[in-house]
Amino acid sequence: MTHSRRQLIAGNWKMNGLTDEAMNLATDLVTRMAKIPNAPFEMLLCPPFTTIRMVAEVLAGELMIGGQDCHASEKGAHTGDVSAAMLADAGCTFVIVGHSERRTDHGETDAIVRNKAKAALSAGLSAIICIGETEAKRDSGSTMDVVRNQLSGSVPKGADSDNLVIAYEPIWAIGTGRVATPVQAQEVHAEIRAWLADHLGDEQASQVRILYGGSMKPNNAAELLAMTDVDGGLIGGASLKAEDFWAIAQNCTSLG
Ligand code: PEP
Repeated sequence: MTHSRRQLIAGNWKMNGLTDEAMNLATDLVTRMAKIPNAPFEMLLCPPFTTIRMVAEVLAGELMIGGQDCHASEKGAHTGDVSAAMLADAGCTFVIVGHSERRTDHGETDAIVRNKAKAALSAGLSAIICIGETEAKRDSGSTMDVVRNQLSGSVPKGADSDNLVIAYEPIWAIGTGRVATPVQAQEVHAEIRAWLADHLGDEQASQVRILYGGSMKPNNAAELLAMTDVDGGLIGGASLKAEDFWAIAQNCTSLG
Protein backbone atom coordinates (compact mmCIF):
# COMPACT_ATOMS: atom_id res chain seq x y z
CA MET A 1 0.00 0.00 0.00
CA THR A 2 1.29 3.49 -0.78
CA HIS A 3 0.65 6.59 1.27
CA SER A 4 -0.39 9.98 -0.05
CA ARG A 5 1.26 11.70 2.90
CA ARG A 6 5.06 11.54 3.29
CA GLN A 7 5.61 9.32 6.29
CA LEU A 8 7.46 10.83 9.22
CA ILE A 9 9.74 8.78 11.44
CA ALA A 10 10.38 10.77 14.61
CA GLY A 11 12.75 9.78 17.40
CA ASN A 12 11.99 10.90 20.93
CA TRP A 13 15.27 10.47 22.78
CA LYS A 14 13.66 11.50 26.08
CA MET A 15 16.27 12.14 28.81
CA ASN A 16 19.02 10.18 27.07
CA GLY A 17 22.27 11.09 25.40
CA LEU A 18 25.45 12.85 26.42
CA THR A 19 27.61 14.50 23.76
CA ASP A 20 29.36 11.43 22.35
CA GLU A 21 26.28 9.27 22.21
CA ALA A 22 24.19 12.03 20.63
CA MET A 23 26.80 12.86 18.02
CA ASN A 24 27.42 9.22 17.10
CA LEU A 25 23.73 8.50 16.73
CA ALA A 26 23.04 11.60 14.65
CA THR A 27 26.11 11.12 12.45
CA ASP A 28 25.26 7.50 11.78
CA LEU A 29 21.73 8.42 10.68
CA VAL A 30 22.92 11.31 8.50
CA THR A 31 25.32 8.94 6.69
CA ARG A 32 22.50 6.49 6.03
CA MET A 33 20.04 9.15 4.95
CA ALA A 34 22.52 10.83 2.58
CA LYS A 35 22.66 7.60 0.58
CA ILE A 36 18.93 7.70 -0.19
CA PRO A 37 17.95 10.63 -2.36
CA ASN A 38 14.16 11.10 -2.48
CA ALA A 39 13.52 8.87 0.51
CA PRO A 40 9.81 8.06 0.87
CA PHE A 41 9.98 9.21 4.49
CA GLU A 42 11.24 12.13 6.53
CA MET A 43 13.26 11.63 9.67
CA LEU A 44 13.08 13.81 12.76
CA LEU A 45 15.25 13.68 15.87
CA CYS A 46 14.05 15.10 19.18
CA PRO A 47 17.05 15.09 21.52
CA PRO A 48 17.19 16.62 24.99
CA PHE A 49 17.61 20.42 25.04
CA THR A 50 21.31 20.16 25.91
CA THR A 51 22.28 18.45 22.66
CA ILE A 52 19.87 20.11 20.22
CA ARG A 53 22.27 22.67 18.84
CA MET A 54 25.19 20.29 18.37
CA VAL A 55 22.97 17.63 16.77
CA ALA A 56 21.41 20.28 14.51
CA GLU A 57 24.86 21.14 13.22
CA VAL A 58 25.59 17.62 11.97
CA LEU A 59 22.23 17.00 10.35
CA ALA A 60 23.14 18.95 7.21
CA GLY A 61 19.55 19.10 6.07
CA GLU A 62 19.32 15.29 5.84
CA LEU A 63 17.19 14.96 8.97
CA MET A 64 15.04 17.43 10.86
CA ILE A 65 15.31 18.33 14.52
CA GLY A 66 12.75 19.11 17.17
CA GLY A 67 12.30 19.71 20.89
CA GLN A 68 10.51 17.43 23.34
CA ASP A 69 8.56 20.23 25.01
CA CYS A 70 8.28 24.00 25.13
CA HIS A 71 6.80 26.59 27.46
CA ALA A 72 3.55 28.29 26.55
CA SER A 73 4.99 31.78 27.09
CA GLU A 74 7.24 33.63 24.70
CA LYS A 75 9.75 34.49 27.39
CA GLY A 76 9.98 35.55 31.03
CA ALA A 77 10.42 34.31 34.56
CA HIS A 78 10.07 30.56 34.06
CA THR A 79 13.16 29.00 35.55
CA GLY A 80 14.23 25.82 33.82
CA ASP A 81 11.85 26.18 30.90
CA VAL A 82 12.56 26.69 27.23
CA SER A 83 10.43 28.70 24.81
CA ALA A 84 9.37 27.68 21.33
CA ALA A 85 11.34 30.60 19.91
CA MET A 86 14.48 29.28 21.65
CA LEU A 87 13.95 25.91 19.99
CA ALA A 88 13.52 27.57 16.61
CA ASP A 89 16.65 29.61 17.28
CA ALA A 90 18.58 26.39 17.97
CA GLY A 91 17.53 24.92 14.61
CA CYS A 92 14.30 23.10 15.47
CA THR A 93 11.33 22.96 13.13
CA PHE A 94 9.17 20.71 15.33
CA VAL A 95 8.28 20.31 18.97
CA ILE A 96 6.52 17.47 20.76
CA VAL A 97 3.81 18.69 23.16
CA GLY A 98 1.60 16.76 25.53
CA HIS A 99 3.65 13.58 25.67
CA SER A 100 2.03 11.29 28.24
CA GLU A 101 5.18 11.43 30.37
CA ARG A 102 4.78 15.20 30.60
CA ARG A 103 1.06 14.91 31.22
CA THR A 104 1.85 12.50 34.10
CA ASP A 105 5.14 13.85 35.48
CA HIS A 106 4.25 17.53 35.16
CA GLY A 107 0.47 17.47 35.44
CA GLU A 108 -0.03 18.87 31.94
CA THR A 109 -3.70 19.22 31.06
CA ASP A 110 -5.19 19.53 27.59
CA ALA A 111 -5.44 23.30 28.12
CA ILE A 112 -1.73 23.53 28.93
CA VAL A 113 -0.91 21.39 25.92
CA ARG A 114 -3.05 23.61 23.69
CA ASN A 115 -1.23 26.72 24.91
CA LYS A 116 2.13 25.09 24.27
CA ALA A 117 1.04 24.06 20.78
CA LYS A 118 -0.17 27.62 20.18
CA ALA A 119 3.22 28.97 21.25
CA ALA A 120 4.92 26.50 18.90
CA LEU A 121 2.83 27.68 15.96
CA SER A 122 3.53 31.34 16.80
CA ALA A 123 7.27 30.60 16.76
CA GLY A 124 6.97 28.98 13.34
CA LEU A 125 7.36 25.42 14.62
CA SER A 126 5.16 22.45 13.81
CA ALA A 127 3.56 20.93 16.89
CA ILE A 128 3.40 17.17 17.38
CA ILE A 129 0.47 16.85 19.76
CA CYS A 130 0.44 13.55 21.66
CA ILE A 131 -2.77 11.90 22.73
CA GLY A 132 -3.74 8.41 23.86
CA GLU A 133 -5.77 6.43 26.34
CA THR A 134 -4.83 4.53 29.48
CA GLU A 135 -5.31 0.80 29.66
CA ALA A 136 -8.33 1.27 31.95
CA LYS A 137 -10.01 3.56 29.41
CA ARG A 138 -9.37 1.07 26.61
CA ASP A 139 -10.75 -1.76 28.71
CA SER A 140 -13.88 0.24 29.47
CA GLY A 141 -14.43 0.91 25.77
CA SER A 142 -13.88 4.68 25.96
CA THR A 143 -10.80 5.05 23.76
CA MET A 144 -12.57 7.08 21.06
CA ASP A 145 -14.13 9.44 23.61
CA VAL A 146 -10.77 10.00 25.28
CA VAL A 147 -9.05 10.72 22.00
CA ARG A 148 -11.78 13.08 20.76
CA ASN A 149 -11.76 14.97 24.07
CA GLN A 150 -7.99 15.29 24.00
CA LEU A 151 -8.11 16.61 20.44
CA SER A 152 -10.82 19.12 21.32
CA GLY A 153 -8.82 20.30 24.32
CA SER A 154 -5.32 20.27 22.82
CA VAL A 155 -5.46 21.38 19.19
CA PRO A 156 -5.21 25.18 18.98
CA LYS A 157 -6.89 27.51 16.51
CA GLY A 158 -4.65 28.13 13.53
CA ALA A 159 -3.47 24.53 13.33
CA ASP A 160 -3.39 23.07 9.84
CA SER A 161 -1.61 20.42 7.84
CA ASP A 162 1.51 22.60 7.56
CA ASN A 163 2.04 22.98 11.28
CA LEU A 164 0.22 20.10 12.97
CA VAL A 165 1.10 16.45 13.49
CA ILE A 166 -0.90 14.21 15.78
CA ALA A 167 0.81 11.33 17.59
CA TYR A 168 -1.52 8.60 18.80
CA GLU A 169 0.30 6.96 21.69
CA PRO A 170 -1.75 4.53 23.78
CA ILE A 171 -0.26 4.94 27.25
CA TRP A 172 -0.28 1.20 27.87
CA ALA A 173 2.05 0.75 24.90
CA ILE A 174 4.67 3.40 25.70
CA GLY A 175 7.92 1.82 26.82
CA THR A 176 6.14 -1.39 27.80
CA GLY A 177 6.94 -3.64 24.86
CA ARG A 178 3.18 -4.00 24.30
CA VAL A 179 2.13 -2.62 20.97
CA ALA A 180 -1.27 -1.78 19.53
CA THR A 181 -2.31 -4.16 16.79
CA PRO A 182 -2.34 -2.61 13.33
CA VAL A 183 -6.15 -2.81 13.40
CA GLN A 184 -6.35 -1.04 16.78
CA ALA A 185 -4.00 1.68 15.54
CA GLN A 186 -5.88 2.13 12.26
CA GLU A 187 -9.26 2.38 14.05
CA VAL A 188 -8.03 5.20 16.27
CA HIS A 189 -6.15 6.96 13.49
CA ALA A 190 -9.31 6.91 11.35
CA GLU A 191 -11.24 8.42 14.27
CA ILE A 192 -8.59 11.14 14.63
CA ARG A 193 -8.83 11.91 10.93
CA ALA A 194 -12.61 12.09 11.19
CA TRP A 195 -12.25 14.58 14.06
CA LEU A 196 -9.81 16.61 11.97
CA ALA A 197 -12.27 16.60 9.06
CA ASP A 198 -15.02 17.89 11.36
CA HIS A 199 -12.82 20.70 12.67
CA LEU A 200 -10.37 21.59 9.90
CA GLY A 201 -12.27 20.40 6.85
CA ASP A 202 -11.74 17.37 4.60
CA GLU A 203 -8.89 18.83 2.59
CA GLN A 204 -6.75 19.69 5.64
CA ALA A 205 -7.66 16.45 7.39
CA SER A 206 -6.43 14.44 4.44
CA GLN A 207 -3.02 16.12 4.70
CA VAL A 208 -2.34 16.09 8.46
CA ARG A 209 0.10 13.37 9.45
CA ILE A 210 -0.96 11.03 12.23
CA LEU A 211 1.88 9.06 13.83
CA TYR A 212 1.63 5.91 15.91
CA GLY A 213 3.77 5.69 19.05
CA GLY A 214 4.15 2.92 21.62
CA SER A 215 6.81 0.21 21.46
CA MET A 216 7.29 0.51 17.70
CA LYS A 217 10.25 -1.71 16.82
CA PRO A 218 11.86 -3.11 13.66
CA ASN A 219 9.85 -6.32 14.05
CA ASN A 220 6.40 -4.70 14.26
CA ALA A 221 6.82 -1.51 12.20
CA ALA A 222 5.96 -2.93 8.78
CA GLU A 223 2.39 -3.88 9.67
CA LEU A 224 1.71 -0.64 11.51
CA LEU A 225 3.19 1.60 8.83
CA ALA A 226 1.20 -0.21 6.16
CA MET A 227 -2.11 0.97 7.61
CA THR A 228 -3.88 3.66 5.57
CA ASP A 229 -3.97 6.31 8.26
CA VAL A 230 -0.64 5.58 9.94
CA ASP A 231 1.64 8.26 8.55
CA GLY A 232 4.75 7.39 10.50
CA GLY A 233 5.92 6.70 14.02
CA LEU A 234 6.95 8.50 17.17
CA ILE A 235 9.59 6.22 18.55
CA GLY A 236 11.19 6.24 21.98
CA GLY A 237 13.41 3.29 22.95
CA ALA A 238 14.16 2.09 19.43
CA SER A 239 15.25 5.57 18.33
CA LEU A 240 18.33 5.33 20.54
CA LYS A 241 19.94 2.71 18.28
CA ALA A 242 20.67 3.94 14.76
CA GLU A 243 20.28 0.46 13.34
CA ASP A 244 16.83 -0.09 14.87
CA PHE A 245 15.56 3.40 14.10
CA TRP A 246 16.75 3.08 10.53
CA ALA A 247 15.27 -0.41 10.19
CA ILE A 248 11.86 0.95 11.25
CA ALA A 249 12.03 3.66 8.58
CA GLN A 250 12.78 1.11 5.86
CA ASN A 251 9.17 -0.05 6.17
CA CYS A 252 7.79 3.26 4.95
CA THR A 253 6.02 3.01 1.64
CA SER A 254 6.52 5.41 -1.22
CA LEU A 255 4.22 8.30 -1.91
CA GLY A 256 1.02 7.40 -3.73
C1 PEP B 1 7.41 7.59 23.19
O1 PEP B 1 7.94 7.89 24.24
O2 PEP B 1 6.90 8.47 22.49
C2 PEP B 1 7.41 6.18 22.80
C3 PEP B 1 6.58 5.81 21.87
O3 PEP B 1 8.26 5.35 23.48
P1 PEP B 1 8.56 3.81 23.13
O4 PEP B 1 8.80 3.72 21.64
O5 PEP B 1 9.78 3.47 23.90
O6 PEP B 1 7.36 3.03 23.53
